[in-house]
Amino acid sequence: MSGRASNNVPPSLLRIWQREEEDRRLSASRMDSAKAIVCHDTHANGGWKMEQVGVRKPGEGELLVEMVASGICHTDAMIGGIPGGAAPIAFYPRVLGHEGSGYVKEVGKGVTVAQPGDPVLLSFAFCNTCDICKAGHYSNCIDFNDINFGGPYRDFTLASKSGEPEIGGQFFGQSSFANLSIVRQCSVVNAKNLVKDKKELQLFAPLGCGIQTGSGTVINAAKATSSDVILIMGLGGVGLSAIMGAKIQG
Ligand SMILES: [Zn+2]
Ligand SMILES: [Zn+2]
Repeated sequence: MSGRASNNVPPSLLRIWQREEEDRRLSASRMDSAKAIVCHDTHANGGWKMEQVGVRKPGEGELLVEMVASGICHTDAMIGGIPGGAAPIAFYPRVLGHEGSGYVKEVGKGVTVAQPGDPVLLSFAFCNTCDICKAGHYSNCIDFNDINFGGPYRDFTLASKSGEPEIGGQFFGQSSFANLSIVRQCSVVNAKNLVKDKKELQLFAPLGCGIQTGSGTVINAAKATSSDVILIMGLGGVGLSAIMGAKIQG
């Protein structure tokens, strides 16, 4: 009620104001404070802004992850470059980012993949129930587009506002362009016994997309061996990872 004069106000209106104040207080207490790159519009229109946000608590099958690093992939620029409403997956405001790594801060109900404090690497999300997922081909999940690009799954709120989250999260199940973000359980790889310190966890963040795309193409899709000759066009994160994959294959 601060800022509102309460003298000579009818009791019924006072009760409404008190209820509003209480709602705001409760919503704020359900939120963690974070910083995120919020896309309000396309990058070309200057719509990407670093802002103070609130993050809701993790629900069933979700984790709250404190990011230590995030790669930047062309898909972030591509999705955040489509004018709002031009396609079902083009909506704002939202938080992008899909090569995150970090430490688990909280877990929601039913989460078994990691516990608070565990280091985690993040990748794409999938339904785990369709026939394609059941066959182990998660990246070809029948609902891949809806789960990874769709929504909006509203997880964040601007710190200047209170109330229900209005900013979309869970891009690729993770929205890693935030130092705290809601992550789907299926996007999480527990790196507890894989990384020795924070620096190593930061270094491995791009495993979530660029590294596995490049090296996976050579190792798993092409199954290239030392008797093959391969051509890699372009040496960004994906191309360089393809070279590393080729070196591993001999
Ligand atoms: Zn990517
Ligand atoms: Zn699926």
